[in-house]
Amino acid sequence: AIEVRGLRKSFGDLEVLRGIDFRVARGEVVCVIGPSGSGKSTLLRCVNLLEEPTSGTVTVAGVEITDPEVDIDRVRRRIGMVFQSFNLFPHLSALGNLTIAQRRVLRRDKAEAARVARERLARVGLTDKESAYPAQLSGGQQQRVAIARALAMDPELMLFDEPTSALDPELVGEVLAVMRSLADEGMTMLVVTHEMSFAREVADRVVFMDGGVIVEEGAPEQVVGAPRHARTRSFLARVL
Ligand code: ATP
Ligand code: MG
Repeated sequence: AIEVRGLRKSFGDLEVLRGIDFRVARGEVVCVIGPSGSGKSTLLRCVNLLEEPTSGTVTVAGVEITDPEVDIDRVRRRIGMVFQSFNLFPHLSALGNLTIAQRRVLRRDKAEAARVARERLARVGLTDKESAYPAQLSGGQQQRVAIARALAMDPELMLFDEPTSALDPELVGEVLAVMRSLADEGMTMLVVTHEMSFAREVADRVVFMDGGVIVEEGAPEQVVGAPRHARTRSFLARVL
């Protein structure tokens, strides 16, 4: 569902991505790990063109989105994105956060948008919170609303950029549980995370990035359990 070839990205003189090639097949869960500044967020942002690659191609669901002819808004609405900061609209209830883009972007009518919103809130375990505003929700609940909001757009794939790193430790598990159930349902997912147990248990493949390149990738038991490269080993020694 995602294919990245020869992806490079520079900010001025700083080359942040130095030739990245990888694929995420439909239904696959790929976790990206690596030290701070290695280019993980930039990679994710290039996959939905929040950043424009300097060179290389990105193909999502069969559409080469780096082709200047492509209507990126049409493609982007099929890609769900969840960030570290939840980015909910503070003046809208949970239900309102889930219906607004459905109505404006997908042109769903009010009743249909509300029906989908309630179904997605149920899926993340928040049926009883549809009228709550973000300030009335815990961080873990806000992040689950953010996931439900992305799901309300019927995405073909989901990108997660450290979705639990802003959370208090006791709230991390509820968000990972939702992500795990999405993976079990067959959602295609590209997940930047520091949660090594999640990567080990849920990922089909783990990609280790350092210095703007993929140093090593493979099954989690290999990359996390028995890394081949010294750089992977020293990273894991710091985070595990
Ligand atoms: P972290 O684990 O801290 O989130 P990361 O692996 O996600 O790190 P990126 O955010 O992709 O790393 O950043 C990679 C490098 O690119 C960093 O040196 C960062 O300062 C630089 N960078 C990222 N975005 C920009 C930008 N818009 N302009 C200039 N430099 C940028
Ligand atoms: Mg980052």
